[in-house]
Amino acid sequence: MTELSPALKQATPVLAARGEGVYLYDEDDRRYLDFTAGIGVTSTGHCHPRVVEAAQRQVGTLIHGQYTTVMHKPLLQLTERLGDVLPSGLDRVFYVNSGSEAVEASVRLARHATGRPNIIALEGGFHGRTMGAAALTTSGVKVRAGIGPMMGGVVFTPFPEPYRWQCSTEQAVQRALAEFDQLLLTQSSPRDTAAIIVEPVLGEGGYIPAPPQFLAGLRERADAHGFLLIVDEVQTGVGRTGRFWGHDHAGIRPDVLITAKGLASGFPLSAIAASEELMSKAWPGSQGGTYGGNAVAAAAALATLDVVEQEGLVANAAEQGARLAEGLRKVAADHPVIGDVRGLGLMLGNEFTTPEGTPDAATAARAHAAAAEAGLLLLTCGPAGNVVRMIPPLIVTTEQVDAAIELWATAVRSAVA
Ligand code: PMP
Repeated sequence: MTELSPALKQATPVLAARGEGVYLYDEDDRRYLDFTAGIGVTSTGHCHPRVVEAAQRQVGTLIHGQYTTVMHKPLLQLTERLGDVLPSGLDRVFYVNSGSEAVEASVRLARHATGRPNIIALEGGFHGRTMGAAALTTSGVKVRAGIGPMMGGVVFTPFPEPYRWQCSTEQAVQRALAEFDQLLLTQSSPRDTAAIIVEPVLGEGGYIPAPPQFLAGLRERADAHGFLLIVDEVQTGVGRTGRFWGHDHAGIRPDVLITAKGLASGFPLSAIAASEELMSKAWPGSQGGTYGGNAVAAAAALATLDVVEQEGLVANAAEQGARLAEGLRKVAADHPVIGDVRGLGLMLGNEFTTPEGTPDAATAARAHAAAAEAGLLLLTCGPAGNVVRMIPPLIVTTEQVDAAIELWATAVRSAVA
């Protein structure tokens, strides 16, 4: 009998038969509150009727146009529609299928545009599993272990981590920027530096928001030295953090923006956006791919953007995120094993630590499993796997948030018992 590769790790034992809104149902029709959203993908919930309708209509019209062979309307319409939400000036868009591929595309562009080799990435960052993206990734050693040598020209600089460093946010920002300045003096000359790539909220690395002053500091340095600021919004984009883009919290403008996941409600679609000036520096034929900008995915993305706007999902993410964070902080107050609750909007992490302050992945795993058992699907993250994260669809309601908090409180109680 053929079976799935054991290299696949499944976070929960659930066999999903169907999805509807914030819920997944198994084969026996048992209902689960899905606070994983397929790793932050089903932004409009499972099978939102408008997304379903748009995709079904497109399936019967044109599935695969292939954008390097012929152009198709859904992609042109999506590109125009993205103009409503992209940062001003980032008006050239290139599509691929996954976050990793878009990250790779951003690296190609940065090297072409600057003629420089080095990419600086943040310690703890996650940018994907393809070889180039994995070379930029240090969220957990499993992504890199045993597959080297990695792509060259990658240098890492610390992400400000007030909780782990046991200091104030301001001190963490000062320290991280000082280390970045030192790195430019010692490891990657600005003349060799093509770009710095950063997540507005460190995702797989532990759900740690980048303080606005830190992103502003990176922007200043990129301007001063002529390298690019690439913002990886694969997980933080399309309303997830309570603003349309995660970097909106910092009021900065990236040179290259990467989006994926929530963009098409579950259809594989990703994109990079940059200015015309920058994109025109990509060498002809250097970007492309068979499936990029698929017509059905583009139609689903158009519907997704409409739903996000018309149902006020960005504001809902901010509102429900604040409610969820408050509830999680109350649970943490009763359980010292949860040392930190943090995040932005509907991207929240609960960090489990021992009384000595070391990561407590065992208790986190028990709480995660107990939550699934009780009907609340969650994910873990962080280098040690000791952060339980919550990333529900943006359509989540007050009642569903309150139900999740209840289930979480019960799960944590049983995990520490
Ligand atoms: N960048 C970030 C910030 C991500 O969170 C992810 C996926 N978790 C990726 C890139 C890679 O995306 P994909 O899995 O679609 O290749």
